[in-house]
Amino acid sequence: MIVTEDVGVAQREAWGAKLLPPVEEVRPGLWSIPVPMPHNPLRYVLSYALALDTGLALIDLGMDTEESWQALVDGVAQTGHHITDVRYAAITHLHPDHFGLAPRLRETTGAAIAMHTAEATALGHFTPADVAADIEAWRVDLTDLGAPDDVVEAPRFDLVRFKAGESADVVLSGGDRLDLPGWNIEAVWTPGHTPGHLAFVDRDNDLLFSGDHMLPRISPNISSGPGELESPLHRYLLSLHATTALPDCEVLPAHEYRFRGVTDRARQLMAHHDERLDEIRAAVGADPESTAWELTTRITWSRPIDAMNPRLLRLAVRETQAH
Ligand SMILES: [Zn+2]
Ligand SMILES: [Zn+2]
Repeated sequence: MIVTEDVGVAQREAWGAKLLPPVEEVRPGLWSIPVPMPHNPLRYVLSYALALDTGLALIDLGMDTEESWQALVDGVAQTGHHITDVRYAAITHLHPDHFGLAPRLRETTGAAIAMHTAEATALGHFTPADVAADIEAWRVDLTDLGAPDDVVEAPRFDLVRFKAGESADVVLSGGDRLDLPGWNIEAVWTPGHTPGHLAFVDRDNDLLFSGDHMLPRISPNISSGPGELESPLHRYLLSLHATTALPDCEVLPAHEYRFRGVTDRARQLMAHHDERLDEIRAAVGADPESTAWELTTRITWSRPIDAMNPRLLRLAVRETQAH
């Protein structure tokens, strides 16, 4: 079991009560700021603010909505800073709940936006022609997986949000140290959830900013689709395995609540995927001609499949295919 003990109590209680947790000072000069995600069961993304001599740095930002922006601005104010103090924002991955506010932040503050080279490359492909080609490739792929029409046509919120011409200011690789004076934070490449997902380890303070790579309660979606990672589950399991070699420090995730037990949580997630592989292997054995969609309807999910909307069903069929 992961140990939550004395850490993340306010966040965990807020999660249980379906409330937004407070802005908290996790360590001197380091705060967690919940940024609401409208109409999403995850409810909020946790942005982390780090005090610098010359301002503030953020890790992950929130979705590009007015409500999210106001929450980020207000949260930063509660740390005793102003949003215009932000000099640097490290993005764990290119999903809209993490990157969405980056263009507005840069426009408002001039902050440098940093991300892994693979995410920076993906960001460079948001021209209208690239997006149209991508949508068509997904349509073909989902049809091949046997998905019904409403699932094939379900809108992808990850495509409609980024404007063409966006780019990263700082491109990171695993092992790079973030250019944040006063902090000793290293990027850890953790592909799986996305090709260029980064976690950040702070060895001085025994902290791991885990993004979506590792959350306390749910397992992140692992999808295989056109333009995504090849063998994403394999890559994710390797990333989890590598995570067990990190210091067993406090985890500051991008959703839910912080916790202790890096190694135990990594092992739990690996065991979860082992069980899923066994279940899906058995389903394939029972009917080897099945499409990925048919298998998706036959295996167990954390909620009834009839209760999932087409967008969730698309994630489910892609996760099945990844296994
Ligand atoms: Zn994500
Ligand atoms: Zn997320």
